[in-house]
Amino acid sequence: MNKIYTSTRNKNIKCSPKEAILKGIAEDGGLYVYDGLDQLQLPLADMMNMSYTQMAETVLSLLLPDFSEEEVKQCVQDAYENRFDSKDITPLHVVNDTPILELFHGPTCAFKDVGLRMLPQLMSKAITSLNQQDVMILTATSGDTGKAALEGFKDVKHTAITVFYPNDGVSNIQRLQMVTTTGANTKVCAIHGNFDDAQTNVKKIFQNQELKNHLAKHNIVLSSANSINIGRLIPQVVYYIFAYKEMVQQKQIAFGEEINFCVPTGNYGNVLAGYYAKCMGLPVKRFLVASNENNVLCDFLKDGIYDCRRPFYKTISPSMDILISSNLERLLYYKSGKDDGYIQKLMNELEIKGSYKVSEEIKKSIQDDFYGGYCTDEECKETIRKVYMEKGYVLDPHTAVGYKVMEEYHKQDDTPCVLLSTASPYKFTTAVMEAIFNETYTNDFDCMDALAKKTNTNVPKSLSMLKEANILHHDVIHKENMIEYVENGVKEMFHD
Ligand SMILES: *Cc1c(COP(=O)(O)O)cnc(C)c1O
Repeated sequence: MNKIYTSTRNKNIKCSPKEAILKGIAEDGGLYVYDGLDQLQLPLADMMNMSYTQMAETVLSLLLPDFSEEEVKQCVQDAYENRFDSKDITPLHVVNDTPILELFHGPTCAFKDVGLRMLPQLMSKAITSLNQQDVMILTATSGDTGKAALEGFKDVKHTAITVFYPNDGVSNIQRLQMVTTTGANTKVCAIHGNFDDAQTNVKKIFQNQELKNHLAKHNIVLSSANSINIGRLIPQVVYYIFAYKEMVQQKQIAFGEEINFCVPTGNYGNVLAGYYAKCMGLPVKRFLVASNENNVLCDFLKDGIYDCRRPFYKTISPSMDILISSNLERLLYYKSGKDDGYIQKLMNELEIKGSYKVSEEIKKSIQDDFYGGYCTDEECKETIRKVYMEKGYVLDPHTAVGYKVMEEYHKQDDTPCVLLSTASPYKFTTAVMEAIFNETYTNDFDCMDALAKKTNTNVPKSLSMLKEANILHHDVIHKENMIEYVENGVKEMFHD
């Protein structure tokens, strides 16, 4: 029943939405996609009068039809009610003619909350209705995902979560956000090593058959909170429609008129959610894909060649420091006319050679919907300064990358464009204070206070609270001991 999701690399692998959410990734390494996506139609006119949560219910019901109406309602309520510091969840502010959709009003002050508040709710329902398994979530993080996943899964029934982060590889604020997490089902552990060490070892744990067999005896499975899970992607479709509604209500456009969206991009998850909304009937002309100096996507969108054999830069927009954008695979699937064999071939080439080239026809079709631009750290800082001076609005570095690309693109197309703001400037205060006021701080909290004072804005409570919060997670281990750590975590958290 309801086997409507298939692997991008093999259409014979089929599963229901609930199974796809529980598994995260298909057994052949492909990503789960809704084959009939282009046949779905949003009730757009009706949606113009809906609240964010009503919209979320509508979108989830369409894309996850094996969830009952009651289940969807409860998931939406548990994910969003009283969890965001804006009643709109993702408010749209028109700042001197520039519409900015603020996606950072959730518990961790970055857009990942929108997906990661919802994924655990969906997973919990899937567990109950499939076979009562318990799920242990394993995540390696370089910063933002870890905390958003911890907040999302904390105290969710039938789940527990273990997050590994590189001891010297995250910012002080990011570390504090993670190690102060409460909840009886959360574990946070630093490892001696870098992010790749953490990531590689988490992948090894997922492949360890002995551990999986042992866990299976206790009816426990491993899963991940990675952005390739459809349960993280689908909730993000909602805010594109919400932004459109706000554009109409705030008299920026007439109903039915096309708009553009500019999206600061790393793994292609966020912008792909927008494309889903377009496939389902949202009037969007184009998506502007904004990258930092790791501009592999920008090159791809120009010449159709994806080539990640290039230097990796650490930038002031670290959440976009990515060379392999996993979710692009889903776009290629749809744009190739759902040719699973072709996707399999491209992904093999990427793994073996580090690059692939798409056909001229596919390239053109992608370019109809997407434009790629990028921005250097210098330009990013200049943009943060300029926008503050001209408009009194404080951008975080990721959003500033988007702003710069949007401004550049505007010269060739004056379609109204909504800029997605992916993080609160208070999450990256040091870079922001330096950009606007040329001041450097050694203490993050002093820096936050200074930004608040000078710009007459408020430090988000969840960040200012960190100064006083108790440190609850102290573990630091060698990477060789990660598997043992997970085994002990399972015993501890599921009481087996
Ligand atoms: C994760 C992240 C991004 C990139 O989003 P993708 O879905 O990976 O493209 C951009 N900005 C911020 C602040 C993020 O945390």
